[in-house]
Amino acid sequence: MDIRFEKREVLKEKPDQNNLGFGKYMTDYMFVMDWTKDEGWHDARIVPQGPVELDPACVTLHYAQETFEGLKAYRREDGKIQLFRPEMNARRMINSNARLCMPAFPEDMFVEAVRALVKQEADWVPSKPNTSLYIRPFMFATEAALGVHMASSYKFMIICCPVGAYYAAGLNPVKILVEDELVRAVKGGTGFTKCGGNYAGSILGQVKAEKMGYAQVLWLDGEHRKYVEEVGTMNIMFKIGGEIYTAPIEGTVLPGVTRDSMIHILRDWGYKVNETHLAVDDLMKAGHDGTLEEVFGTGTAAVISPVGELRYKDDVVTINNFEIGELTQKLYDTLTGIQWGKLEDKYGWTQ
Ligand code: PMP
Repeated sequence: MDIRFEKREVLKEKPDQNNLGFGKYMTDYMFVMDWTKDEGWHDARIVPQGPVELDPACVTLHYAQETFEGLKAYRREDGKIQLFRPEMNARRMINSNARLCMPAFPEDMFVEAVRALVKQEADWVPSKPNTSLYIRPFMFATEAALGVHMASSYKFMIICCPVGAYYAAGLNPVKILVEDELVRAVKGGTGFTKCGGNYAGSILGQVKAEKMGYAQVLWLDGEHRKYVEEVGTMNIMFKIGGEIYTAPIEGTVLPGVTRDSMIHILRDWGYKVNETHLAVDDLMKAGHDGTLEEVFGTGTAAVISPVGELRYKDDVVTINNFEIGELTQKLYDTLTGIQWGKLEDKYGWTQ
């Protein structure tokens, strides 16, 4: 791919690595590429990060034909920078786009574009322990026309931002509210895609949970409101009686890269991982009879988020005395070890 480069006159000041937060500071440059029916993908470029001009009739602003991805670049102790399974994000975006009738951005071009932008922004990849450069590829329809239809032009872009250590003071168990009224996804819908609309529809649940003092929502399946699916922006796993349970990939749950990696590692360690429907009633029962040993969310942002409390209607269970489980900690250490290049990458996940 030929990538044109447009230089920025004045570079931005780099933020304090102790106070990066999430998604606050965009880097100097962004990757942009356009798609039209006639030309296909064309004009790959790395240009100064800045506003995009859109016609108010741009279909994305009305009908949300938009998809996105999220991955990170990690600074190793030797100063080099590595990516973690970027091809998984490329493939997931192709699947998202197919569901939303958007053109595929080919896997090799996706990885090449990510690599080129990260290379350009190498100085922005922070070096403090557990910080990283968050990479946000996204695509949206640019056509200005108010009919609901498959658009004839799209933009693929990548922006990045340095992000802080998710757990500055070590892993921290969170309280989760099981949402028994609102739903996130149904079979046949868009739950398996990373499209903006899924997230717009989830905010009300998140607001409700926060009002009640909970960090995140645990969504139940949209048809029966009976089986546990995923949490906010994470997949979720349960250790019950020594075995691992997590929702299957059947069109409603986002196929997380972290989820897939954890399942690989767990099976490698000899754990039985059940990708199956787990009824919330059985989960709460396990919480009360002592067989629910550990609960953790998995996702790119936090890697692992231990759960210390689950609330379903009026029923509350505390997990592992609100302490970090042994397996949760071991998984966190292993995956972050691979991602930041402190452990041998025996699975060949980094580049
Ligand atoms: N579920 C949802 C709804 C998410 O937004 C995310 C974050 N991408 C995940 C799960 C975890 O996916 P990943 O491990 O690829 O970050």
